[in-house]
Amino acid sequence: MATANCQLCGARVFRVGRKPPRHCHALNAAPENECWQTSSNELQRLCSASLLVKPRHIPGNVRRIDLLRELGNVSASGESSIIEWLRTREAEECRALVKCVHPAMSGKLSLWVESVHGIAEADALLSVHIPAGLPESLLEGLRRYQAIATSRYRRLIEKGHSRAPDYVRRRMVLPIRLARYLVEQGVTRWDAVRKRDLVAFAESVNGRYQAGYIAFLRFLNDANPFKEMRGRPTSKRKGVRPRITPPSVLAPAEVDELLERVRSEHGDAAFLALWLVGKMGMTAEAAFKLSLAQFELSEAGRLVFRPARVWIAVPKPLTQPWLQLLKQVMPGWHKLPMEQRSRLAPIRIMLGSAEDFVRRTIPAKSKILRSSAIYAAMMSGKLDRVTIHQSMGVSMPTILKMETLLSVDMHRKLDPDIVAARNARIRGDRND
Ligand SMILES: [Zn+2]
Repeated sequence: MATANCQLCGARVFRVGRKPPRHCHALNAAPENECWQTSSNELQRLCSASLLVKPRHIPGNVRRIDLLRELGNVSASGESSIIEWLRTREAEECRALVKCVHPAMSGKLSLWVESVHGIAEADALLSVHIPAGLPESLLEGLRRYQAIATSRYRRLIEKGHSRAPDYVRRRMVLPIRLARYLVEQGVTRWDAVRKRDLVAFAESVNGRYQAGYIAFLRFLNDANPFKEMRGRPTSKRKGVRPRITPPSVLAPAEVDELLERVRSEHGDAAFLALWLVGKMGMTAEAAFKLSLAQFELSEAGRLVFRPARVWIAVPKPLTQPWLQLLKQVMPGWHKLPMEQRSRLAPIRIMLGSAEDFVRRTIPAKSKILRSSAIYAAMMSGKLDRVTIHQSMGVSMPTILKMETLLSVDMHRKLDPDIVAARNARIRGDRND
């Protein structure tokens, strides 16, 4: 049996298979006992465990295992050495590393990285490349539109909404293409653009009227391109009830069964994530964005959280699992400043992306699961739209959809015996 050295901790690993293993966790490795997997230094143990986290991209030609090895080595001499080491690395590398380490260390690491390199500056991504050679009058319109889109992006982010960092760039793609198309047609001013130019252009991009394009067309005619267009009056006749397909839901027992199955197959974190969906009526995406700032711990040890606009107590049986999860993500989380807490999302840190998670655990069921929670709340007597909106964050259109279920399902509220007795009387079986 030949030996090699683990690229992380340097422990001698025996070569079991044909190729020498890269590190102690490799399938064909048989590490000696001084390996980091069993180190007395917790951070080294976590560095080792990080090798099992799905690898993610680290910019440049740095390898994750090299960063982890350096981190594990400096961690032996304490926190200040770690900070010193982070200072010697690129900000981008450090932020990427945070995303591909074991969940139990990513919270702590992200705070250290933040203290050294600050928060990622999204502004760099806002810049847009406008090709040279466009006439000044067209350029001026594009720049004005870019300024409006940029300020809208900033306003949304300030108000706590989230938008992709390339929000502005994406909105500029079609306007820039349109400008180039117009130049080819000999049009050099926005106010000289005719409808047929736009139609011809739309055909040339396969009729893909993307959001940015429509907003841009409105910008050309109107000062407020991002005006809210939802809820505009329809041409439907008054008094005709719109046909709404009732959403499908699961019975509470089915939801419980599903949650228990996920708990036994995927662990507590997965269970708690789906509990937020199936019992609290959050969308999977919102559950994964829920941050530590939306949790509070009272002095009496009561855990409350805010899934939407109001604070709700975590049910007693779930308090311990939740506290454990929060502690795992960030020990002492409730003593951290709010600003830091708002940047740490426990479910996402533990489970990765919402989309992946749903695909892994309950493919195609996440919407049904959420509907079930809203439906269960309605059936238990919470019929007040505002309460449901404020406590679960359900939108009014969704609430309206859910209410169509109530009208057909009211009989489920009745005791089955009463229904049976009534039916017996109707059929004339009973006559007392
Ligand atoms: Zn090792």
